[in-house]
Amino acid sequence: MRTYDDAPMLTRVAVLAYHSSPLAEPGSGDAGGMTVYVRQLAEAHERMGIYTDIFTRATGPGGAIVSLSDKVRVISIQAGPARALPKEQLPEYLEDFAIGVRAFSTMQRVTYDVVHSHYWQSGIAGASLARALGVPLVHSQHTLGRVKNTFLAPGDAPESQARLDGEHRLIDEADVLIASTDEEWSQLSCLYGAPHDRIKTIHPGVDHHVFHPGDRLQARAELGVSPDDAVMLYVGRIQPLKGLDLAVRAAYEVLPALDRDLTFLMVGGASGSSGERELDRIVKLIESLGLRDHVRLVGSEPHRRLPTYYRAADVLTVCSHSESFGLAAIEASACGTPVIATAVGGLSYIVRDGRSGFLLNERDPVAFASRLKTLLSDQTLWREFSLSASGAASLFSWDVTASTFVELYECLARDLAPEACTC
Ligand code: UDP
Repeated sequence: MRTYDDAPMLTRVAVLAYHSSPLAEPGSGDAGGMTVYVRQLAEAHERMGIYTDIFTRATGPGGAIVSLSDKVRVISIQAGPARALPKEQLPEYLEDFAIGVRAFSTMQRVTYDVVHSHYWQSGIAGASLARALGVPLVHSQHTLGRVKNTFLAPGDAPESQARLDGEHRLIDEADVLIASTDEEWSQLSCLYGAPHDRIKTIHPGVDHHVFHPGDRLQARAELGVSPDDAVMLYVGRIQPLKGLDLAVRAAYEVLPALDRDLTFLMVGGASGSSGERELDRIVKLIESLGLRDHVRLVGSEPHRRLPTYYRAADVLTVCSHSESFGLAAIEASACGTPVIATAVGGLSYIVRDGRSGFLLNERDPVAFASRLKTLLSDQTLWREFSLSASGAASLFSWDVTASTFVELYECLARDLAPEACTC
Protein backbone atom coordinates (compact mmCIF):
# COMPACT_ATOMS: atom_id res chain seq x y z
CA MET A 1 0.00 0.00 0.00
CA ARG A 2 3.02 2.30 -0.22
CA THR A 3 2.08 4.94 -2.72
CA TYR A 4 5.32 6.91 -3.09
CA ASP A 5 7.89 4.91 -5.04
CA ASP A 6 10.56 7.47 -4.28
CA ALA A 7 9.78 7.64 -0.57
CA PRO A 8 12.74 7.09 1.74
CA MET A 9 12.61 3.66 3.33
CA LEU A 10 11.46 4.07 6.88
CA THR A 11 13.84 2.42 9.32
CA ARG A 12 13.14 3.19 12.95
CA VAL A 13 10.31 4.74 14.91
CA ALA A 14 10.55 6.19 18.43
CA VAL A 15 7.30 5.49 20.26
CA LEU A 16 6.55 7.29 23.52
CA ALA A 17 4.36 5.59 26.11
CA TYR A 18 5.36 7.69 29.12
CA HIS A 19 2.67 6.94 31.71
CA SER A 20 1.98 3.27 31.08
CA SER A 21 4.53 0.58 30.35
CA PRO A 22 3.91 -1.64 27.34
CA LEU A 23 5.47 -4.43 29.43
CA ALA A 24 2.47 -4.40 31.80
CA GLU A 25 -0.32 -6.92 31.18
CA PRO A 26 -3.40 -4.99 30.06
CA GLY A 27 -6.62 -5.20 32.04
CA SER A 28 -5.98 -3.30 35.26
CA GLY A 29 -4.14 -0.24 36.56
CA ASP A 30 -3.00 2.04 33.74
CA ALA A 31 -2.60 -0.76 31.20
CA GLY A 32 -5.49 -1.19 28.78
CA GLY A 33 -6.29 -0.59 25.15
CA MET A 34 -3.37 1.79 24.62
CA THR A 35 -0.90 -0.87 25.81
CA VAL A 36 -2.36 -3.37 23.35
CA TYR A 37 -2.34 -0.74 20.58
CA VAL A 38 1.32 0.20 21.10
CA ARG A 39 2.51 -3.41 21.15
CA GLN A 40 0.40 -4.62 18.24
CA LEU A 41 1.44 -1.69 16.05
CA ALA A 42 5.12 -2.32 16.81
CA GLU A 43 4.74 -6.04 16.01
CA ALA A 44 3.00 -5.24 12.73
CA HIS A 45 5.75 -2.75 11.85
CA GLU A 46 8.32 -5.44 12.55
CA ARG A 47 6.60 -7.64 9.93
CA MET A 48 7.23 -4.74 7.51
CA GLY A 49 10.92 -4.68 8.45
CA ILE A 50 10.71 -1.55 10.62
CA TYR A 51 12.39 -1.17 14.01
CA THR A 52 10.50 0.29 16.96
CA ASP A 53 11.93 1.61 20.21
CA ILE A 54 9.17 2.14 22.76
CA PHE A 55 10.13 4.55 25.54
CA THR A 56 8.41 4.51 28.91
CA ARG A 57 9.12 6.10 32.30
CA ALA A 58 11.15 3.86 34.62
CA THR A 59 9.05 2.85 37.64
CA GLY A 60 11.58 0.59 39.32
CA PRO A 61 15.13 -0.69 39.24
CA GLY A 62 16.07 -3.35 36.74
CA GLY A 63 16.91 -3.65 33.07
CA ALA A 64 16.54 -0.44 31.12
CA ILE A 65 16.20 -2.21 27.77
CA VAL A 66 13.88 -5.16 27.19
CA SER A 67 13.68 -6.75 23.74
CA LEU A 68 10.16 -7.85 22.90
CA SER A 69 11.35 -9.32 19.59
CA ASP A 70 14.08 -8.82 16.98
CA LYS A 71 13.03 -5.31 16.06
CA VAL A 72 10.99 -4.12 19.05
CA ARG A 73 12.55 -2.87 22.29
CA VAL A 74 11.07 -1.28 25.39
CA ILE A 75 13.43 1.25 26.96
CA SER A 76 12.78 2.59 30.46
CA ILE A 77 13.99 6.13 30.96
CA GLN A 78 14.75 7.61 34.38
CA ALA A 79 12.46 10.60 34.86
CA GLY A 80 11.51 11.40 38.44
CA PRO A 81 11.49 8.80 41.22
CA ALA A 82 11.81 5.21 39.94
CA ARG A 83 8.46 4.09 41.31
CA ALA A 84 4.80 4.36 40.39
CA LEU A 85 3.57 7.93 40.89
CA PRO A 86 0.12 9.44 41.25
CA LYS A 87 -1.24 10.60 37.88
CA GLU A 88 -1.14 14.26 38.99
CA GLN A 89 2.63 14.15 39.61
CA LEU A 90 3.54 12.63 36.25
CA PRO A 91 3.56 15.86 34.18
CA GLU A 92 6.43 17.21 36.36
CA TYR A 93 8.95 14.89 34.72
CA LEU A 94 8.05 15.18 31.05
CA GLU A 95 11.02 17.34 30.14
CA ASP A 96 13.42 14.96 31.97
CA PHE A 97 11.89 12.12 30.01
CA ALA A 98 12.38 13.90 26.67
CA ILE A 99 16.00 14.68 27.61
CA GLY A 100 16.53 11.03 28.65
CA VAL A 101 15.24 9.71 25.32
CA ARG A 102 17.46 12.12 23.43
CA ALA A 103 20.49 11.11 25.51
CA PHE A 104 19.72 7.44 24.78
CA SER A 105 19.57 8.16 21.06
CA THR A 106 22.90 10.03 21.17
CA MET A 107 24.72 7.48 23.32
CA GLN A 108 23.45 4.46 21.41
CA ARG A 109 23.93 6.22 18.04
CA VAL A 110 20.43 5.41 16.87
CA THR A 111 18.44 7.79 14.76
CA TYR A 112 14.68 7.87 14.35
CA ASP A 113 12.64 8.84 11.31
CA VAL A 114 9.61 9.89 13.31
CA VAL A 115 8.38 10.23 16.91
CA HIS A 116 4.95 8.73 17.60
CA SER A 117 3.51 9.67 20.99
CA HIS A 118 0.55 8.09 22.77
CA TYR A 119 -1.69 9.99 25.24
CA TRP A 120 -1.27 13.68 26.01
CA GLN A 121 1.63 13.40 28.46
CA SER A 122 3.81 11.52 25.97
CA GLY A 123 2.74 14.10 23.41
CA ILE A 124 4.17 16.98 25.44
CA ALA A 125 7.49 15.12 25.83
CA GLY A 126 7.27 14.12 22.15
CA ALA A 127 6.90 17.72 20.98
CA SER A 128 10.14 18.75 22.63
CA LEU A 129 11.93 15.52 21.58
CA ALA A 130 10.83 15.73 17.94
CA ARG A 131 12.00 19.36 17.77
CA ALA A 132 15.38 18.42 19.22
CA LEU A 133 15.81 15.47 16.85
CA GLY A 134 14.51 17.42 13.84
CA VAL A 135 11.90 14.77 12.96
CA PRO A 136 8.10 14.90 12.69
CA LEU A 137 5.74 14.20 15.58
CA VAL A 138 2.68 11.99 15.07
CA HIS A 139 0.38 12.03 18.07
CA SER A 140 -2.41 9.66 19.11
CA GLN A 141 -4.57 11.09 21.92
CA HIS A 142 -6.41 7.76 22.57
CA THR A 143 -9.02 9.52 24.69
CA LEU A 144 -9.87 13.20 24.84
CA GLY A 145 -10.32 15.03 28.15
CA ARG A 146 -13.11 17.24 26.80
CA VAL A 147 -15.07 14.22 25.56
CA LYS A 148 -14.60 12.37 28.85
CA ASN A 149 -15.80 15.42 30.79
CA THR A 150 -18.86 15.82 28.56
CA PHE A 151 -19.95 12.22 29.18
CA LEU A 152 -18.70 11.90 32.74
CA ALA A 153 -20.01 8.89 34.69
CA PRO A 154 -21.84 9.74 37.95
CA GLY A 155 -19.28 10.03 40.75
CA ASP A 156 -16.31 10.15 38.38
CA ALA A 157 -13.73 12.93 38.75
CA PRO A 158 -13.45 15.31 35.77
CA GLU A 159 -10.21 15.36 33.76
CA SER A 160 -7.78 18.02 34.98
CA GLN A 161 -7.22 21.46 33.46
CA ALA A 162 -3.56 20.42 33.02
CA ARG A 163 -4.70 17.64 30.69
CA LEU A 164 -7.05 19.90 28.71
CA ASP A 165 -4.30 22.52 28.35
CA GLY A 166 -1.80 19.82 27.34
CA GLU A 167 -4.16 18.45 24.69
CA HIS A 168 -4.71 21.95 23.30
CA ARG A 169 -0.97 22.55 23.17
CA LEU A 170 -0.56 19.39 21.12
CA ILE A 171 -3.09 20.58 18.57
CA ASP A 172 -0.52 23.28 17.72
CA GLU A 173 2.64 21.25 18.15
CA ALA A 174 2.03 17.83 16.58
CA ASP A 175 2.60 17.48 12.85
CA VAL A 176 -0.28 15.03 12.62
CA LEU A 177 -3.05 14.17 15.09
CA ILE A 178 -4.46 10.66 14.83
CA ALA A 179 -8.18 10.04 15.27
CA SER A 180 -9.37 6.44 15.67
CA THR A 181 -12.72 7.14 14.04
CA ASP A 182 -14.48 9.86 12.04
CA GLU A 183 -16.29 10.82 15.24
CA GLU A 184 -12.98 11.47 16.96
CA TRP A 185 -11.87 13.45 13.89
CA SER A 186 -14.92 15.72 14.43
CA GLN A 187 -14.20 15.99 18.15
CA LEU A 188 -10.63 17.10 17.45
CA SER A 189 -11.96 19.61 14.98
CA CYS A 190 -15.01 20.93 16.85
CA LEU A 191 -13.94 20.67 20.51
CA TYR A 192 -10.25 21.47 20.04
CA GLY A 193 -10.22 23.53 16.84
CA ALA A 194 -7.62 21.23 15.24
CA PRO A 195 -6.84 22.20 11.64
CA HIS A 196 -8.39 19.68 9.24
CA ASP A 197 -5.23 19.20 7.20
CA ARG A 198 -3.41 17.82 10.25
CA ILE A 199 -5.97 15.26 11.47
CA LYS A 200 -5.83 11.76 10.01
CA THR A 201 -8.28 8.99 10.78
CA ILE A 202 -6.56 5.63 11.19
CA HIS A 203 -8.60 2.81 12.74
CA PRO A 204 -6.95 0.48 15.24
CA GLY A 205 -6.95 -3.21 14.33
CA VAL A 206 -7.22 -6.72 15.70
CA ASP A 207 -4.91 -9.73 15.48
CA HIS A 208 -6.91 -12.32 13.52
CA HIS A 209 -4.28 -15.01 14.18
CA VAL A 210 -5.21 -14.83 17.86
CA PHE A 211 -8.81 -13.63 17.79
CA HIS A 212 -10.90 -15.89 15.55
CA PRO A 213 -13.95 -18.12 16.03
CA GLY A 214 -13.33 -21.42 17.83
CA ASP A 215 -14.93 -24.27 19.70
CA ARG A 216 -17.42 -22.79 22.17
CA LEU A 217 -17.91 -25.98 24.21
CA GLN A 218 -14.19 -26.48 24.60
CA ALA A 219 -13.75 -22.87 25.69
CA ARG A 220 -16.52 -23.31 28.28
CA ALA A 221 -14.98 -26.56 29.51
CA GLU A 222 -11.63 -24.76 29.96
CA LEU A 223 -13.30 -22.06 32.02
CA GLY A 224 -15.55 -24.41 33.96
CA VAL A 225 -18.71 -22.83 32.53
CA SER A 226 -21.78 -24.99 31.88
CA PRO A 227 -22.41 -25.72 28.18
CA ASP A 228 -26.11 -24.96 28.75
CA ASP A 229 -25.82 -21.52 30.34
CA ALA A 230 -26.45 -18.20 28.68
CA VAL A 231 -23.08 -16.47 29.07
CA MET A 232 -22.59 -12.69 29.27
CA LEU A 233 -19.05 -11.33 29.23
CA TYR A 234 -17.37 -8.05 30.14
CA VAL A 235 -13.71 -7.49 29.26
CA GLY A 236 -11.90 -4.35 30.34
CA ARG A 237 -10.61 -2.26 33.17
CA ILE A 238 -13.10 -1.53 35.92
CA GLN A 239 -13.65 2.21 36.38
CA PRO A 240 -16.75 4.46 36.39
CA LEU A 241 -16.24 5.38 32.71
CA LYS A 242 -16.95 1.77 31.72
CA GLY A 243 -20.48 1.94 33.19
CA LEU A 244 -20.51 -1.73 34.17
CA ASP A 245 -23.50 -1.19 36.50
CA LEU A 246 -25.76 -1.00 33.44
CA ALA A 247 -24.79 -4.52 32.35
CA VAL A 248 -25.34 -5.85 35.90
CA ARG A 249 -28.82 -4.30 36.03
CA ALA A 250 -29.61 -5.70 32.57
CA ALA A 251 -28.52 -9.18 33.74
CA TYR A 252 -30.92 -8.84 36.68
CA GLU A 253 -33.77 -7.79 34.35
CA VAL A 254 -33.22 -10.57 31.81
CA LEU A 255 -32.71 -13.43 34.25
CA PRO A 256 -36.41 -14.31 34.86
CA ALA A 257 -37.11 -14.14 31.12
CA LEU A 258 -34.51 -16.78 30.19
CA ASP A 259 -35.25 -20.49 29.90
CA ARG A 260 -31.72 -21.38 31.04
CA ASP A 261 -29.30 -20.31 33.72
CA LEU A 262 -27.13 -17.20 33.32
CA THR A 263 -23.41 -16.77 33.94
CA PHE A 264 -21.83 -13.33 33.73
CA LEU A 265 -18.01 -13.40 33.42
CA MET A 266 -16.28 -10.12 34.28
CA VAL A 267 -12.66 -10.02 33.13
CA GLY A 268 -10.48 -7.11 34.23
CA GLY A 269 -9.33 -5.34 37.38
CA ALA A 270 -9.68 -1.94 39.01
CA SER A 271 -8.08 0.97 37.21
CA GLY A 272 -7.39 4.61 38.03
CA SER A 273 -8.02 6.64 41.16
CA SER A 274 -11.69 5.60 41.40
CA GLY A 275 -11.22 2.00 40.22
CA GLU A 276 -11.27 0.28 43.63
CA ARG A 277 -14.32 2.30 44.68
CA GLU A 278 -16.08 1.36 41.45
CA LEU A 279 -15.24 -2.34 41.88
CA ASP A 280 -16.64 -2.16 45.40
CA ARG A 281 -19.81 -0.48 44.10
CA ILE A 282 -20.25 -3.18 41.43
CA VAL A 283 -19.77 -5.98 43.99
CA LYS A 284 -22.37 -4.36 46.29
CA LEU A 285 -24.77 -3.99 43.36
CA ILE A 286 -24.34 -7.66 42.40
CA GLU A 287 -25.08 -8.66 46.00
CA SER A 288 -28.04 -6.34 46.41
CA LEU A 289 -29.65 -7.73 43.24
CA GLY A 290 -29.09 -11.31 44.38
CA LEU A 291 -26.80 -12.08 41.44
CA ARG A 292 -23.87 -13.44 43.44
CA ASP A 293 -24.30 -16.98 42.09
CA HIS A 294 -24.49 -15.75 38.51
CA VAL A 295 -21.48 -13.42 38.35
CA ARG A 296 -17.85 -14.47 38.30
CA LEU A 297 -15.34 -11.68 38.96
CA VAL A 298 -12.38 -13.18 37.14
CA GLY A 299 -9.90 -10.30 37.63
CA SER A 300 -7.49 -9.36 34.88
CA GLU A 301 -6.34 -12.05 32.45
CA PRO A 302 -3.34 -12.06 30.07
CA HIS A 303 -4.29 -10.84 26.61
CA ARG A 304 -3.46 -14.21 25.01
CA ARG A 305 -6.06 -15.93 27.28
CA LEU A 306 -8.92 -13.75 26.10
CA PRO A 307 -9.97 -15.68 22.96
CA THR A 308 -11.12 -18.47 25.30
CA TYR A 309 -13.42 -16.03 27.12
CA TYR A 310 -14.80 -14.49 23.93
CA ARG A 311 -15.49 -17.94 22.44
CA ALA A 312 -17.17 -19.17 25.63
CA ALA A 313 -19.54 -16.18 25.70
CA ASP A 314 -22.87 -15.66 23.98
CA VAL A 315 -22.51 -11.91 24.15
CA LEU A 316 -19.95 -9.26 25.08
CA THR A 317 -21.42 -6.25 26.83
CA VAL A 318 -19.72 -2.85 26.62
CA CYS A 319 -21.53 -0.07 28.49
CA SER A 320 -18.98 2.76 28.41
CA HIS A 321 -20.10 6.37 28.90
CA SER A 322 -17.52 7.30 26.25
CA GLU A 323 -15.05 5.21 24.29
CA SER A 324 -12.41 6.24 21.78
CA PHE A 325 -12.55 2.92 19.91
CA GLY A 326 -13.21 -0.22 22.01
CA LEU A 327 -10.67 -2.95 21.29
CA ALA A 328 -12.54 -5.53 23.39
CA ALA A 329 -15.57 -5.14 21.10
CA ILE A 330 -13.53 -5.77 17.96
CA GLU A 331 -11.72 -8.74 19.55
CA ALA A 332 -15.05 -10.33 20.56
CA SER A 333 -16.48 -9.72 17.08
CA ALA A 334 -13.41 -11.32 15.50
CA CYS A 335 -14.14 -14.41 17.64
CA GLY A 336 -17.71 -14.45 16.31
CA THR A 337 -19.24 -13.19 19.55
CA PRO A 338 -22.03 -10.62 19.14
CA VAL A 339 -21.67 -7.38 21.10
CA ILE A 340 -24.28 -5.27 22.86
CA ALA A 341 -22.81 -1.83 23.42
CA THR A 342 -23.69 1.76 24.17
CA ALA A 343 -23.70 3.77 20.94
CA VAL A 344 -20.62 5.82 21.75
CA GLY A 345 -17.31 6.42 19.96
CA GLY A 346 -15.78 3.54 18.05
CA LEU A 347 -18.41 1.09 19.34
CA SER A 348 -20.86 2.55 16.80
CA TYR A 349 -18.39 1.63 14.02
CA ILE A 350 -17.65 -1.86 15.28
CA VAL A 351 -21.20 -3.07 16.04
CA ARG A 352 -23.65 -3.38 13.15
CA ASP A 353 -26.87 -2.60 14.97
CA GLY A 354 -29.41 -5.40 14.55
CA ARG A 355 -26.94 -7.55 12.59
CA SER A 356 -23.75 -8.24 14.57
CA GLY A 357 -25.09 -7.03 17.89
CA PHE A 358 -27.10 -4.15 19.26
CA LEU A 359 -26.32 -0.51 19.98
CA LEU A 360 -28.02 1.16 22.94
CA ASN A 361 -28.94 4.80 22.58
CA GLU A 362 -29.94 5.19 26.21
CA ARG A 363 -28.70 3.72 29.46
CA ASP A 364 -31.87 1.78 30.18
CA PRO A 365 -31.45 -1.69 31.79
CA VAL A 366 -34.91 -2.81 30.61
CA ALA A 367 -34.21 -1.92 26.96
CA PHE A 368 -30.80 -3.59 27.31
CA ALA A 369 -32.41 -6.72 28.80
CA SER A 370 -34.86 -6.94 25.91
CA ARG A 371 -31.91 -6.97 23.45
CA LEU A 372 -30.22 -9.64 25.56
CA LYS A 373 -33.38 -11.74 25.56
CA THR A 374 -33.68 -11.48 21.76
CA LEU A 375 -30.09 -12.65 21.28
CA LEU A 376 -29.98 -15.30 24.00
CA SER A 377 -33.29 -16.96 23.15
CA ASP A 378 -32.92 -17.53 19.42
CA GLN A 379 -30.02 -19.76 18.30
CA THR A 380 -30.67 -19.15 14.58
CA LEU A 381 -30.52 -15.39 15.06
CA TRP A 382 -27.43 -15.79 17.25
CA ARG A 383 -25.61 -17.69 14.49
CA GLU A 384 -26.48 -14.97 11.96
CA PHE A 385 -25.20 -12.29 14.35
CA SER A 386 -22.06 -14.31 15.02
CA LEU A 387 -21.24 -14.54 11.29
CA SER A 388 -21.93 -10.87 10.80
CA ALA A 389 -19.71 -10.02 13.80
CA SER A 390 -16.68 -11.86 12.41
CA GLY A 391 -17.42 -10.32 8.99
CA ALA A 392 -17.45 -6.82 10.51
CA ALA A 393 -14.18 -7.50 12.34
CA SER A 394 -12.46 -8.71 9.16
CA LEU A 395 -12.37 -5.06 8.01
CA PHE A 396 -9.92 -4.25 10.80
CA SER A 397 -6.38 -5.59 11.11
CA TRP A 398 -3.15 -4.35 12.67
CA ASP A 399 -1.31 -5.01 9.39
CA VAL A 400 -3.59 -2.55 7.56
CA THR A 401 -3.30 -0.06 10.43
CA ALA A 402 0.49 -0.39 10.44
CA SER A 403 0.88 0.04 6.69
CA THR A 404 -1.31 3.18 6.79
CA PHE A 405 0.95 4.57 9.50
CA VAL A 406 4.03 3.78 7.41
CA GLU A 407 2.56 5.69 4.46
CA LEU A 408 1.98 8.63 6.75
CA TYR A 409 5.44 8.49 8.36
CA GLU A 410 7.05 8.29 4.91
CA CYS A 411 5.09 11.29 3.65
CA LEU A 412 6.25 13.29 6.63
CA ALA A 413 9.83 12.09 6.21
CA ARG A 414 9.69 13.42 2.61
CA ASP A 415 8.58 16.76 4.02
CA LEU A 416 5.21 16.47 2.39
CA ALA A 417 2.33 18.27 4.05
CA PRO A 418 0.06 15.72 5.79
CA GLU A 419 -2.82 16.49 3.42
CA ALA A 420 -0.66 15.41 0.47
CA CYS A 421 -0.51 11.91 1.92
CA THR A 422 -3.16 9.63 0.45
CA CYS A 423 -3.51 7.49 3.58
N1 UDP B 1 -7.57 -6.76 28.34
C1 UDP B 1 -6.71 -7.78 28.69
N2 UDP B 1 -6.91 -8.41 29.90
C2 UDP B 1 -7.92 -8.08 30.73
C3 UDP B 1 -8.82 -7.06 30.34
C4 UDP B 1 -8.61 -6.41 29.14
O1 UDP B 1 -5.78 -8.12 27.97
O2 UDP B 1 -8.04 -8.67 31.79
C5 UDP B 1 -7.35 -6.07 27.04
C6 UDP B 1 -8.49 -6.28 26.06
O3 UDP B 1 -8.32 -7.51 25.39
C7 UDP B 1 -8.34 -5.07 25.14
C8 UDP B 1 -7.79 -4.01 26.08
O4 UDP B 1 -7.32 -4.67 27.25
O5 UDP B 1 -7.40 -5.34 24.12
C9 UDP B 1 -8.87 -3.01 26.48
O6 UDP B 1 -9.03 -2.13 25.43
P1 UDP B 1 -10.37 -1.31 25.21
O7 UDP B 1 -10.16 -0.45 24.01
O8 UDP B 1 -11.55 -2.21 25.20
O9 UDP B 1 -10.52 -0.40 26.53
P2 UDP B 1 -9.47 0.69 27.14
O10 UDP B 1 -8.56 -0.05 28.05
O11 UDP B 1 -8.75 1.33 25.99
O12 UDP B 1 -10.34 1.64 27.89
